[in-house]
Amino acid sequence: MTLKVVVVGAGIVGTACAFHAAAAGLDVTVVDRGPVGAGTTSRGEGNVLVSDKEPGPELALARLSRTLWEEAGRELGPDRLELEPKGGLVVASSAEGLAALGEFAARQEAAGVRVERVDRVRDLEPHLAPDIPGGVHYPQDAQVQPVLAAAALLRAAVRRGARLHAGEVVGAETGGGRITGVRTAAGDVLPADAVVNAAGTWGGEVGRRLGAPVEVLPRRGFVLVTEPLPPMVRHKVYSADYVAGVASSDAGLETSCVVEGTRGGTLLIGASRERVGFDTRMNIAAVTRLAARACRLFPFLRAVHLLRVYRGFRPYCPDHLPVIGPDPRVPGVVHACGHEGAGIGLAPATGALVTAHLLGRPWRGADPAAHTGLLPDRLSGLGGAHR
Ligand SMILES: Cc1cc2nc3c(=O)[nH]c(=O)nc-3n(C[C@H](O)[C@H](O)[C@H](O)COP(=O)(O)OP(=O)(O)OC[C@H]3O[C@@H](n4cnc5c(N)ncnc54)[C@H](O)[C@@H]3O)c2cc1C
Repeated sequence: MTLKVVVVGAGIVGTACAFHAAAAGLDVTVVDRGPVGAGTTSRGEGNVLVSDKEPGPELALARLSRTLWEEAGRELGPDRLELEPKGGLVVASSAEGLAALGEFAARQEAAGVRVERVDRVRDLEPHLAPDIPGGVHYPQDAQVQPVLAAAALLRAAVRRGARLHAGEVVGAETGGGRITGVRTAAGDVLPADAVVNAAGTWGGEVGRRLGAPVEVLPRRGFVLVTEPLPPMVRHKVYSADYVAGVASSDAGLETSCVVEGTRGGTLLIGASRERVGFDTRMNIAAVTRLAARACRLFPFLRAVHLLRVYRGFRPYCPDHLPVIGPDPRVPGVVHACGHEGAGIGLAPATGALVTAHLLGRPWRGADPAAHTGLLPDRLSGLGGAHR
């Protein structure tokens, strides 16, 4: 009998889950209260990075994801995703910073990441400031256009029989000690053998509605968009302090910046990090600091206009790792949320891993036994068999 799966959330993570689950022959329905990819997926920059990850469970997922993005690009057409394997260049602003970056890169290299030390960074990026002492080139870093990618993944899932249902999930149907479906605000009941919580920053609330709460919190970020320019920035370029900013647990404003070009000619300058709940107000200090840091890296930006600024809320778990796997309290609920600032990059591997959990066997290189560090029962109050 075919396993019936409801995926809550049509962001990049939910659509990647649908893509892999449908490819595995499962009966998939994706349900979202809004348009496809309109949540945090529409608020990111589309970096697919291995360069910013410490060796550990997230890097393992990122490396698999990088392979699966390539595979999805071959199947769907790289232009459908705007998949660009452009590589990342991480630069240091001081000799000490360069030494620390070199040590970090050595540990990543030992974990299987390709790294190339660069003394003359302007050979790779001619418009960088002349006094930058060096950096590390990460050829595996890439970029996608997140909303296009979510739509393409879902379209491919639909071609394999998946359905999209419009509606807000408000509760679970249960029976025999497990979940048997979800209810929407309109009163629809979608029957399911398994329900995937891919609700991103709202994963905590959706988990609660399914009887399986997990702690997922919002981390606000602003991204600046410049006027369209001729190609000036070839790689994803960011300063080495970005990695510390990503991993930090400080509530205050952090503004290590990443600069990258897009197909349309605009440059994206991201992204600040703040824990201010779902506060949607503009923060001029964040925007000013991001702009200043970007100008420090690329002095030509001082003469460039900004077109706009947008913001979003990254979904984070207290330990900064996504929560992926079966909930130990409610059989049939599988979580796939809390990817913080890396959900675009990590989506394909998350979809494959969720599918592997649903099938009870490895799928497309994702083996549940190899990713136990991401299981829900690591979170406080969720003691379970996988610890
Ligand atoms: C400023 C910024 C920059 C970023 N840059 C990058 C980057 O460069 N690279 C990267 O990898 N990541 C980046 N991220 C992070 C990335 O955007 C997220 O990790 C990712 O989009 C999360 O995807 P998701 O599918 O889990 O969530 P979402 O895209 O938010 O999707 C969740 C979906 O669930 C739906 N939903 C919620 N509740 C319900 C309900 N009750 N019923 C039905 N549907 C529901 C929502 O409508 C939404 O569509 C960035 C984020 C921000 C804010």
